[in-house]
Amino acid sequence: MTPPDHPIETPPRAPSPVHKFGTLAVHAGAPHDPTTGAVIEAISLSTTFAQNGVGKPVGQYEYSRSANPNRDNFERAVAALEHARYALAFSSGSATTATILQSLAAGSHVVSISDVYGGTHRYFTKVALAHGVHVTFSPSIEVEIEELIRPETKLIWIETPSNPTLSLVDIRAVASIAHKHGILVVVDNTFLSPYVQNPLDHGADIVVHSVTKYINGHSDVVMGCAAFNAPELAERLTFLQNAIGAVPSAFDCWLAHRGLKTLHLRAREATKNATSIAHALEASPHVISVNYPGLKSHAQRAVAIKQHRDGMGGGMLSFRIQGGHEAAERFCQNTKIFTLAESLGGVESLVEVPGAMTHAGIPKEQREAAGVFDDLVRVSCGVEDYEDLTNDVMQALEKAVAGAKISNGNGSI
Ligand SMILES: *Cc1c(COP(=O)(O)O)cnc(C)c1O
Repeated sequence: MTPPDHPIETPPRAPSPVHKFGTLAVHAGAPHDPTTGAVIEAISLSTTFAQNGVGKPVGQYEYSRSANPNRDNFERAVAALEHARYALAFSSGSATTATILQSLAAGSHVVSISDVYGGTHRYFTKVALAHGVHVTFSPSIEVEIEELIRPETKLIWIETPSNPTLSLVDIRAVASIAHKHGILVVVDNTFLSPYVQNPLDHGADIVVHSVTKYINGHSDVVMGCAAFNAPELAERLTFLQNAIGAVPSAFDCWLAHRGLKTLHLRAREATKNATSIAHALEASPHVISVNYPGLKSHAQRAVAIKQHRDGMGGGMLSFRIQGGHEAAERFCQNTKIFTLAESLGGVESLVEVPGAMTHAGIPKEQREAAGVFDDLVRVSCGVEDYEDLTNDVMQALEKAVAGAKISNGNGSI
């Protein structure tokens, strides 16, 4: 499909791209149409492809669950951005996780960080077990990894930054121990996107994304992907992608590919916005504490400097508000630009209260042990203007904390 002389196309087997991120985001997996010259690929909705003779397809495609032009192109783009030889797309981030876990034999053991994405936790505890795969959770994986490894440990699952407390894991530190024991390391890179962090460069074997978030970036596609370098992984996971069939539609691949082309611009704006808001929150008397990897006060700031592009903090942050859960709720109801909603990574800014929304399923004690208190507010910064977003946060804080105190003082409420 790709013209052989296309100047910028990254061959799927070239791990170190010569071009920089923005150039790859726009051009990787984006060949001009060889017949019409169309600069943007067509959406190829056909589920089947004609054959000239039995077993002799006209082109390289046969049936679109196995492969289709839009998915191939999207996968090439993701591979280029994650410095990977291979990438595979799935129907959701969750389907990506499920497919990787299903590549393990019954009796396998997995070590995971404790505060993984809720759906990942649910899969590990409620589904993987049914296939005979056991998962041990660790709140401080860098310290405990050596003693948690068993002879049957096959996989280590990391999410960095974690959700919603934004704590970081030193990928290299974990990977170097894991590799001594022949164990694969998976990093869920959803929260930062490939623009801010490339886990394979730090020793991870597989990087996964909920494409639903930053990669697509426009809150209109549910999709996932995995990227990696080992040919054995490519063989096994490509087989499972087709055999399990949790694949995205051609249209969703096309949309997500369009979104990916501006990832660098969006990730930079989101980081700028989050940085401005994090500093304003940190200076506010209405705030107990701020979790943001871009702040000097972040407990693992050194890891952010080592692992993130230019030490960037990304577009996600969380903070504890004065006044308990009621203040957190009032805050979310008083923002005018931020929408109260789950999810993250889109062009529009969102707020939510994890304890009552995304993380409500976790028992309170367990939640608070992981830093998810009832007064914690999670913020996903979009690409609106930073002055407007920061002002919006400040006015909502005033209403949620100071305003409530005044009205209580007046005895009005
Ligand atoms: C949303 C999310 C997922 C799951 O992705 P879906 O596309 O919703 O299935 C996995 N990991 C993280 C960190 C997420 O934010």
